[in-house]
Amino acid sequence: MKRHLSLAFTLCCTLCLLAASAKAQAGQRVAPSISVTQLRDGVYFAEPNAGGNAGFIVGDNGVIVFDATTSPALGKLLLAEIAKVTPKPVTTVILSHSDGDHTSGLASFPTGLTIIAHENCKADLVATANTRNPFPQDHLPNKTLTKSETVTIDGVKLQILHFAAAHTSGDLQLYLPQQKIVFTGDVIATNCCGNVRGPQVYTLIHPQKNGSGEGWVRTVKGLLALNADTYLPGHGEVQTKADVQQRFDRVETRFNAVKKLVAQGKTLEQVKQALPDTGLDPSLDPVQFPDFTTVVYNELTRKQKS
Ligand SMILES: [Zn+2]
Repeated sequence: MKRHLSLAFTLCCTLCLLAASAKAQAGQRVAPSISVTQLRDGVYFAEPNAGGNAGFIVGDNGVIVFDATTSPALGKLLLAEIAKVTPKPVTTVILSHSDGDHTSGLASFPTGLTIIAHENCKADLVATANTRNPFPQDHLPNKTLTKSETVTIDGVKLQILHFAAAHTSGDLQLYLPQQKIVFTGDVIATNCCGNVRGPQVYTLIHPQKNGSGEGWVRTVKGLLALNADTYLPGHGEVQTKADVQQRFDRVETRFNAVKKLVAQGKTLEQVKQALPDTGLDPSLDPVQFPDFTTVVYNELTRKQKS
């Protein structure tokens, strides 16, 4: 388990860096860069040129950051972008999950901040301590939760959400009720690593981090029920509620189709014949980045046996 976790953590970071380095090898120096968009008063979306997206909210006395980017260099850039917007200090960081492309940038953040994460996310990060690519242990989450919480931080009303295990078992989403904005983390990702490179048809689940297809359906149903009109994905562009609804409908339909075939006792091969997938990226390791149909098949057959 520990080896799996550290492998997944390392691989996420590596893949993002690989993409950049492939360009570098092709002679294109790819300096880390980050583009920041103001969405509503005090709410900003940050899209780095590698790894996971992030964001920040300017509060009364401080700044709340959602996710910390894929590398110390990008983490530094994110802090510099925040400083361009406000002299207020970063006080709080909320982590959507433990994948390195959303957490490694924390190494550049000051110590002593409030770092909020799901309990399982923290466990994943602790487990990387003796690996080749450890998460900075002096930046471990110091406030953990296992279910949704409504809080006010620096004068900003927030709902920190956890509906179920989805992309990983330690997923958090952030809902700003007054601004009708949701930071989704990798529960919604329209491009990037794994089998989501190119047109993402369904979603990426990490079974090695106890992610779940069933939990994804429950989570996104919950996110769609929120009074929100703007969804900020872990990878890719700003999503409307209609965009998220379309993805939800596709994923739920595929989930139910697999469920029906599993109930009929079909093998994975038979399920894949009946439900062919297009656009899967053959260059990526299917163990680390399994396609959605395989994840659901394994999840439901495991459940049948238990
Ligand atoms: Zn992820």
